[in-house]
Amino acid sequence: MTAPTASRTGFVVAFADGDGTMVDSLGGKGAGLAQMTRLGLPVPAGFTVTTEACRAYLAAGREPPLLAGELATALALLEERCGRRLGDPARPLLVSVRSGARFSMPGMMETILNVGLNDAVVAALAVSRGARFAWDSYRRLVQMYGRTVLGIEGDLFEARLRAERAAAGVSTDQELSAGRLEVVTRDFRVLCREQTGEDLPQDPHEQLHRSVLAVFESWTGDRARRYRVHEHISEDLGTAVNIVQMVFGNGGPRSGSGVCFTRNPATGEPVPYGDYLVDAQGEDVVNGSRQTMDLTTLAAREPALHAELCDHLRTLERHYRDLCDVEFTIEDGRLWILQTRVGKRSAAAAFRIACDLVDEGVIDLDEALLRVDGHQLAALLHPGFADSAGHPPAAHGLAASPGAATGRAVFDAPTAMAWAARGEQVVLLRPETSADDVGGLLAATAVITARGGLTSHAAVVARGFGKTCVTGVEGLDIDSAARTAVLPGGHLLAEGDALSVDGTTGDIFLGSRQVVASAGALAIRAWTTSAPSASAPYLAEADPVVRAMGRLLAHADLRRTCTVRANAETFHDARAGRELGAEGIGLARTEHMLLGDRRVLVEQVVTGDEREAGLRSIEALARTEFEQILGAMDGLPTVVRLLDPPLHEFLPDLVELEVRAAVDRAAGTVDDAVERRLALVRRWHEQNPMLGLRGVRLLAVVPELVTAQVRALAQAAVALRERGLDPRPEVMVPLVADVGELEAALASVRAEVAAVVGDSGTELDVPLGVMIELPRAALTAARLAEHVDFFSFGTNDLTQTTWGMSRDDAETSFLAAYRGAGTLASDPFSTLDDEGVGRLVRLAVTEGRLTRPDLGLGVCGEHAGDPASIHLLLASGVDYLSCSPPRVPVARLEAGRYAVLGQSAATAPETR
Ligand code: ADP
Ligand code: MG
Ligand code: MG
Repeated sequence: MTAPTASRTGFVVAFADGDGTMVDSLGGKGAGLAQMTRLGLPVPAGFTVTTEACRAYLAAGREPPLLAGELATALALLEERCGRRLGDPARPLLVSVRSGARFSMPGMMETILNVGLNDAVVAALAVSRGARFAWDSYRRLVQMYGRTVLGIEGDLFEARLRAERAAAGVSTDQELSAGRLEVVTRDFRVLCREQTGEDLPQDPHEQLHRSVLAVFESWTGDRARRYRVHEHISEDLGTAVNIVQMVFGNGGPRSGSGVCFTRNPATGEPVPYGDYLVDAQGEDVVNGSRQTMDLTTLAAREPALHAELCDHLRTLERHYRDLCDVEFTIEDGRLWILQTRVGKRSAAAAFRIACDLVDEGVIDLDEALLRVDGHQLAALLHPGFADSAGHPPAAHGLAASPGAATGRAVFDAPTAMAWAARGEQVVLLRPETSADDVGGLLAATAVITARGGLTSHAAVVARGFGKTCVTGVEGLDIDSAARTAVLPGGHLLAEGDALSVDGTTGDIFLGSRQVVASAGALAIRAWTTSAPSASAPYLAEADPVVRAMGRLLAHADLRRTCTVRANAETFHDARAGRELGAEGIGLARTEHMLLGDRRVLVEQVVTGDEREAGLRSIEALARTEFEQILGAMDGLPTVVRLLDPPLHEFLPDLVELEVRAAVDRAAGTVDDAVERRLALVRRWHEQNPMLGLRGVRLLAVVPELVTAQVRALAQAAVALRERGLDPRPEVMVPLVADVGELEAALASVRAEVAAVVGDSGTELDVPLGVMIELPRAALTAARLAEHVDFFSFGTNDLTQTTWGMSRDDAETSFLAAYRGAGTLASDPFSTLDDEGVGRLVRLAVTEGRLTRPDLGLGVCGEHAGDPASIHLLLASGVDYLSCSPPRVPVARLEAGRYAVLGQSAATAPETR
């Protein structure tokens, strides 16, 4: 196709001279109209005033000198084509003036229909086509012109119409008589004069001209601006304006207007789907005032027109190679197409349509993979509640971490852990959470906090672990000490009461509802756990959406070059991760083994009281858990991180102890044990624990705690080996800043492993790695790489330490304010900060690989489950991603998409 520039005058392009590729200049709507004209579809004649004209207008603050002339020429050509003239009562040309930017923008000025009507034309039209039609059209023009060009509040017109309907005793405008419409039109013009001192211009050229300029102006309106900021659309694009010959759907029973999709946008079913309204113009069909009919009914009423419409829908799909939506109008039995674009669709439809198009030979699997994304997949994989009807929520908060879960209410972490340990499902309710609650959070099926936003501690941790979570529940009053809560409606919730939590919607229900896994998640599990041959029939039977999901995931697996692992530290999570396709564990945190009731063991070790007994218990507990995890991941790498959190997190709470000691002292009953514990807790209390005694530094102070866990890991592996299994433990060292720290830590790990293995007579190779989560680790990566087999980027901490901000505190203290003011382009804890943190990652990747070409490079921060961050991380050169189990399919899909995008840079999604 040659570039259609022949008759292009610069600021104006006729539909017949443009095409679908010229979106920058013609806007989405204009390019679609031009393309449909080119495809031979019945599009009314018209032309587009280009975005260049708009930009020139906005830059100069006035009309570009050439525009008026070009408009006049284009209009003359249009008049000639239609055999009608603007303002000619005998053969009047009426047009619509429609805004249409590069990206569809609901915040923009709307369309003005029936431009070209004036008192003389309307009188003639009343004679030739009937008074009702003439006055209905004129009434609409005055209303739309008044609202969008003169800027009059739309409600003032609507109120007038309501009054007229009431007076006539009818419920829709369609039932208003010609006489009444004439009166309404007069009233509207009076309204215009009262509000602005202006009337509808009687010169149709002036109507047209003013309308075009009003569309230009609307680009800088507040609503449009806000929308662009929200959608990251550039301020500089400007909008195009389309001038289209009017076709009339409001001319009686054989006329009407409709919207439709080439296939069902909710289910993806390959059948056209739409709504049609008889005797209607413009948006009547979508504003819901009258009952619409579906396409099947239209087919029964107007079989030939329906067949023609379907024919055009097929043409459009063939051209755009995707689902399209379409606006159409029927005028006295003749079909016109007024707009098309690639249509929006549900997550389910996205998968189904992509695969159906593959089967229809329209696109290949690579392209199908690019038509879906990880957010859509995640939406399809969350469990939900079985019976959705008849369950009013008892409270509502922010949907902080998706999923559905039930359990009995508990109000503190120790109770959550104790109840969970005896097999109870619990929902943890806290005013807000802190590091002290993590054990309880892990034990609970869901977490609810009264305060906090989407990046509060509870929200972030819950998403990291794939737990259902609702935060910021307005009106929820939690009394942790009394172990009760008052719900917004006044209901008193006691410990042990059953609750159901929907983290996808933010709803909280009283009682226990049935949770059902999504069909998609069940299917993925079935496929990964069954032999390939066994999964084939299952695939064939599955519902088309599930089948499409499985197919695109499989294709993503084929394409991706990185591996995907899960972050998991319990048998349950390890197995869930594996079932969702994880090819190993990239992060098994060891601290949860020491939280809850087990904190006393740490205290014993730190104080030296019963130190040996404490260590023996820690080792035994850890060994059991490691056996379970390594067993679940048989044959796959399992990266265990050495003990990481600040020491004080394992010790009793300072304030609680201080209060107790003070009360005792006041009563003159000083308890030596309490005083001793208080001294201990004070000794290890830190002002700034995030930068304190944690990670590799613990080895300098409480080495036994760490080495007990390493021994337990080695013993677990040896035991499994002896049972004929294939455990693949790896160990990584957290929070290293300097090569000296790393060397010391690795030496002690090696010594412990060697001691265990030497005793057993088994062979065990344990690869060793270092976490890159401090800027200095990244900056000295070349030296660190000399000592390890792999790096694992802990992007959560690396973000905190690079930015010097605490994720847990930033949200409540200042991040929310930053967001309100638009200070930061994006939240670095949600999407990887490529410019800063990403640069450190790239530096470490490059220098690490220079030292050691076969260095493994993984990511175990939360970013590894975020679609946008995944692309940035893979572009930085990492070779495995490790995320919470429910995000594993998301990471697989996005890694596949990344690989396909890399091969076909030409089809990369456009940036705005
Ligand atoms: P939006 O961008 O809000 O969809 P449109 O420019 O598509 O606005 O126009 C609004 C309504 O007016 C649509 O229903 C459209 O089909 C209808 N419309 C626009 N131009 C014409 C025309 N020339 N003849 C008949 N109906 C039209
Ligand atoms: Mg439209
Ligand atoms: Mg860390």
